[in-house]
Amino acid sequence: MGYGVRLDDLGDRDGWTCWVCHGEVDAACPARSPHAASVDHVIPRARGGTNDPANLRLAHRRCNGQRGSRLPELDWPDELGVHEPAPLWGVLQRTMRRRGDWEVVAAVAAHSADRAEQWLATAVTSIVGPGWETRCQPLGSSLATLALRAEPASRPTPAHEQRRRPRKH
Ligand SMILES: [Zn+2]
Repeated sequence: MGYGVRLDDLGDRDGWTCWVCHGEVDAACPARSPHAASVDHVIPRARGGTNDPANLRLAHRRCNGQRGSRLPELDWPDELGVHEPAPLWGVLQRTMRRRGDWEVVAAVAAHSADRAEQWLATAVTSIVGPGWETRCQPLGSSLATLALRAEPASRPTPAHEQRRRPRKH
């Protein structure tokens, strides 16, 4: 299948809830039904999304199909005074790949920095789900930088530790 996770495991992980409509997904639903479980990509494959479990969510077949390869709107409101923002979808992809690393998203007017940070946290969480941290730092006297990161995964074992096997003597 090529996904980093089996459909049943994904269902268990996501509590058999569709991440698009938040409705219940019936694991026993016939596979051809529009209400059957399916694997959806947060960042669609057509936009460069991967089959990494972090990019996969459980969705009804119908909800998955309606979403297609469109990305939800993720445009900064004008009134926040955002300067030269990075395209947020690209930022999301990079930060999902490198959990725990901060990426600067935009410079904003200092007086609206708090609101911009709140907007960013809300927008990202509503579209991609929880697990994000935002940060705001002063940049000179009139600007601030906004940064975003995916919460670090719960201490992954370094690769060289995983490969190490107990030695038999
Ligand atoms: Zn749904």
